[in-house]
Amino acid sequence: MLHRAVSLWLARTGRTRLDYNAAAVAATVSSPDGSTLVRARSLIRVMTRVVIRAGSRSGKYVAKRALRLAGRTAKLADTGARHAARTVARRIVVAARRADKLRPDLHYVTDLVHYHHADELRTCPACQSPRLTLLAPMPLNGRPRGRRFGFVTGCRRCGLLFANPLPTPEHLHAFYTPEGEWGAAREQEPARTKSSAGPYVRELFAPAGQWIDVERPNPGAVVFEFGCGDGELLDALQGFGWATCGLDPGDKRAFLRHRELTEIPGEPVFDVAIVHHVLEHVGTPLTILQALHRALKPGGLVLVSVPRVDTLHRHRDFRYCINPRTHIVAYTRDCMATLFALAGFDAIDGSPAPDAPGDEWFVLRRLRMIGRKTGAPAAAPAHPLRAARRAIAAYHAEQPGGDAWRVPLPVRTRAALADLQRSRRVS
Ligand SMILES: [Zn+2]
Repeated sequence: MLHRAVSLWLARTGRTRLDYNAAAVAATVSSPDGSTLVRARSLIRVMTRVVIRAGSRSGKYVAKRALRLAGRTAKLADTGARHAARTVARRIVVAARRADKLRPDLHYVTDLVHYHHADELRTCPACQSPRLTLLAPMPLNGRPRGRRFGFVTGCRRCGLLFANPLPTPEHLHAFYTPEGEWGAAREQEPARTKSSAGPYVRELFAPAGQWIDVERPNPGAVVFEFGCGDGELLDALQGFGWATCGLDPGDKRAFLRHRELTEIPGEPVFDVAIVHHVLEHVGTPLTILQALHRALKPGGLVLVSVPRVDTLHRHRDFRYCINPRTHIVAYTRDCMATLFALAGFDAIDGSPAPDAPGDEWFVLRRLRMIGRKTGAPAAAPAHPLRAARRAIAAYHAEQPGGDAWRVPLPVRTRAALADLQRSRRVS
């Protein structure tokens, strides 16, 4: 809305691009109702500190001016914030024109507020909601051009966290083919002689004990695994008497023993579906869950296991939860319950309690959920993103080093600073 107001004002007064940058700062400094003024002033102050720390004399000059102007804007807010915004804009422009060398600093200051990535998504890749929140900057390694930082973005509708920007579909496709990086790494793994996954499979399905006895399937019962890898889970299920099939574009080792499918069937043919450490690799988890819902018989179960974010502040393994290359989306229990509800499943939390005895690595890092195809799925949590926000805030509160992390700056500003630091280090 501020941008729109500023654009309208620019169009009406025939101002230039430089004025736009100045006006953008001004508009951020002063909003029509004056309510964000306090926040804007503290932002300007933080920006001042940042510019001074960056060690640029001209930057100091701009920052000092901005600080003084912010003070004046505050006084003017009573008489009309729009007028104040114009005054601030005009003065910053005058300051910038006075010394040409100040222009980069002016851009730098505006960049701190308006930093964005060219490929940034504006809607949730799962549920398409535009209600997004930036949660943290994210380094984008291995991208030679453009911004070096994107964001961990959260969806307020479904609670999904995603790397923003996501890798392109072409990149993902190339990565997960047998010839790609992922497939090639799998080829190198030694062949397994026999499956030892029986006890693990039993444990995975134990929370759904009232609907399924995984060791004694009904005659002809079919289990499908989406992303079955070398087929270890399917081997165990086959041993229990299940008819087994799977799908995996990057790894063909399982299909010596199990039927290969090239897509999820459109009609209800499966009793159980498994998606074991796959949904963190895809940008479209809801589409996959919806397809599995169509492919399951009534009462059928889907078992999902993924890295979990709600316990991030305890396990502190950020890159395992989310990174820009492989684990490109991340989940909390509330998020998965919401996605299950959107896909038509009733959700059963199958994770061990975070305080349960056992292997702490697994207990803290992994989320297990079972969805049941019922006529009427349960209601989704009211605030699906809340747990993720809390966990990330708690994680950063205890993060050692890096002043930029400790100052309560907006996420865009933090990303801009990190980007700047990185580009200075590189150049
Ligand atoms: Zn969403």
